[in-house]
Parts: sequence; structure tokens; C-alpha cells
Amino acid sequence: MKIGAHVSISGSLDFSIDRAIEIGCDTFQIFTRNPRSWAPKELWDEGITKFKKKLEKTNIDPIFSHIPYLVNLASPDEDKWLKSIEMMKEELIRCEKLNIPYIVTHLGSAKKKSKKFAIEQISSSLNNIFEDHIGNSIILLENTAGKKNKIGENIEEICQIIEQATFYENIGLCFDTCHAFASGYDLRKIEVIDDIVSTIDDLIGIEKLLCIHCNDSIFDLGEGRDRHAHIGLGKIGEIGFENLMKYKEIRKIPFICETPVDEVRNDKENINYLRKI
Ligand code: ZN
Ligand code: ZN
Ligand code: ZN
Repeated sequence: MKIGAHVSISGSLDFSIDRAIEIGCDTFQIFTRNPRSWAPKELWDEGITKFKKKLEKTNIDPIFSHIPYLVNLASPDEDKWLKSIEMMKEELIRCEKLNIPYIVTHLGSAKKKSKKFAIEQISSSLNNIFEDHIGNSIILLENTAGKKNKIGENIEEICQIIEQATFYENIGLCFDTCHAFASGYDLRKIEVIDDIVSTIDDLIGIEKLLCIHCNDSIFDLGEGRDRHAHIGLGKIGEIGFENLMKYKEIRKIPFICETPVDEVRNDKENINYLRKI
């Protein structure tokens, strides 16, 4: 199995690789830019070369980029929506240069507008992003935590967006366990996971599920609140992760921990814990 974590790029982009090696990652995720700012730091040719050279010497593969939280592909505000599309396009180019095959994004929010509006907005932003882009990087839509009736919480809805996408080949799914639990999927029950796996498989094929964000949850089932806990120590508990690992097709997918780092455990310990499961 491939297991890793979200690591920091602090200091220099290629330092993320050192950090990933240190904690025993086979795969990892980064923000290639400041997640709280619209303006990206330019990538220097030298920095790109350093990153790629260092990566070549490892067995780490693949790497995921997580898009800044500012991006809102469902936004009803024209200006914000266009800026979001622009940022996604920039990120595709950055990832192409860095040999990063996958970009994870949330679906955003259409505020007070209808769900239909949100879905159309997301679909048309994906069309816009890929229309004039030639490259191999794939955008992964991640399920988000939240109450029902918002966009991004329902796995079936996300799969439908992917299924109907014009640039179907360039779009995949990222499944976050904490978010799913927060929005009402009880991963402690094997039949719930059965249901999720067959929904994905029926609508888009399980091979479109390209990343698992492996996080336990501080809050209880269906509370709609997103706070990650150490694996096995939150409300999902070890049983939920054991359930998930029972599926051969799931074990083939890279697992990324986005768990806290504190006095209880660090990333390396969560990765090791997951390996034991
Ligand atoms: Zn995310
Ligand atoms: Zn996540
Ligand atoms: Zn989260």
C-alpha cells in the first residue's frame, strides 16, 4: 500500500521531499503555493529542477497538490469565479512543470443559490479550465464535510458531476474519510462502505477514485463539522479504517493523512499506525 501525509513546503519546495522521506511516505501531498493568497510565488527554473531531481532519487509516487481554499468553482460571484478558474489553470501549469499528476480541489459553495446552479457552475468551470489546456495533470474533486443540501458532501452527486464532465479523462475523485463521516456516512458499518464503493464503481468506475484522504474525526457522525483526528482515536475509530482496508481496490489507492501533529502523535506515527492496520 502507498501511505503518506500532507507535508509542508516551508523553506523551499524541494524540502517537502526531505520531510516526506523522514516520516516514511510512499506518496505525499503539498500546497505548491501559499494556501491563503491569490498571488502565487513564481516557480524558478532552478527550484523546479531541484524538486524534480530530488524526487527522481526516491521511490515516492504519486504526489498530490491541494489547491488553496480560496478557490470556489461554484461561486455565484462572477469575479471570484473567474479568479478561481484562473488559479486552477495556473496550478495545472505549475503541476505540469513539477511532474505532479494530481490536483485536489473542493467543490466550493454557491451560497444561497440552488444546487442546480452550483452543479452547472462547477461543470462550466471545469470546461473552462481544460478548454485550452493540453497536459496530463488530473483534477480530483474532493468530498467536503457539511450538512446535507450543500454541494460537495454527497458522493453520488460528485460522481454525477464527473460522469457528465466534457473533459472526463482529466477529472477524478478524492475521498476524505473525515468529511464523509461528518456528512453522515457511517464508515464504522461495512454496508455503508459497500454502498460508497458500489456507487462510485457504478457511476464512474472505481479506478476514478485516485486518492483517499485518511483522517479520523473529532466530531460525531453527521455533525457537518470538519476537524481531523488521529487515525483510530476519533469518532470513526480503528474499525472504520479496518473496514476500508478490506477492499482490494481501495488498498491500491494512495492514502494521504491530513491528521494533526501534536503531543499525542505526529505524521510518522499516524502513517505507522495505518500500516499496522
Ligand atoms: Zn481538502
Ligand atoms: Zn481532505
Ligand atoms: Zn477537512
